[in-house]
Amino acid sequence: MRCRICGREAVYKELRFCPQHFQAFYLKKIRSYLASLRIRNLKVLLAVSGGKDSVALAHGLSQVKSEFGLKLAVLFIDLGIPGYSEECRKYARGIAENLDLPFCLVRLSDYGKTIAEIRHERICGICGTAKRYLMNRFAWENGFDYIATGHNLDDELAFILNGLLSQDLQMVLGAEKFSPTRKEKKLIGKLKPLYYLTEDENRLYCEINGLDYCRAKCPFSRSARQLEIKERMKSLFKSKQEKINFVKTIRKIKKPQEEQQVRLCEKCGFPSFQPVCKFCSLIVEK
Ligand SMILES: [Zn+2]
Ligand SMILES: [Zn+2]
Repeated sequence: MRCRICGREAVYKELRFCPQHFQAFYLKKIRSYLASLRIRNLKVLLAVSGGKDSVALAHGLSQVKSEFGLKLAVLFIDLGIPGYSEECRKYARGIAENLDLPFCLVRLSDYGKTIAEIRHERICGICGTAKRYLMNRFAWENGFDYIATGHNLDDELAFILNGLLSQDLQMVLGAEKFSPTRKEKKLIGKLKPLYYLTEDENRLYCEINGLDYCRAKCPFSRSARQLEIKERMKSLFKSKQEKINFVKTIRKIKKPQEEQQVRLCEKCGFPSFQPVCKFCSLIVEK
């Protein structure tokens, strides 16, 4: 199979690109994401887990940062998962060094318990709560304008499908490509520059650029449901275009007006929907 642009051997079969034109295609997606949201001259914190998506994100954004006047830093959140967190941290630190970006580390244990201790108490979905809380708090306290995450098209599709299959409209509508910063609510906005790029495309981007990433699986498999849905997605979608069409159709649904009011947690003073936030009630020691 030949590259659709230059006729050389294609490495990316679905869209028929050689390595060089795949690279150009990939970076163009990131550029058009930033341009469409007018993201310019801002301080952006990269949430890097060390996996292929966030490593590709860090590298991709670094390639275009000067065009957009972005100041980047890498944040790794150590949840204290035995044998796993240390492994992931190596790759997160590695990509920061490789790109000459500041490396920031936040440990969940500095705030109370570790995930391993909490999991003992059989509470699910806690990793997501802890990560969202810690990245927002760190970004706020260190003057970042936005947080960028490595969420890809397949992640967003899985969220939407999971929400549809379990009648959870919040989850369906929550898979947004962008959320604004609300400084008065201590809420730092989220950028998802890989929103229209797939897992396979991120993996290929890492390969082409010789980027090393963490291949270990979390022993708590925090997203068992997400993984199961992704397996089932393989027989549902015939092409990347169908995935994009699906997400774009869902995006046309208007959010209901009676959205929950964000307030500030009575204990820590960071955003919450309840008097005391989920993080404080689940993780911080009483
Ligand atoms: Zn080519
Ligand atoms: Zn709190």
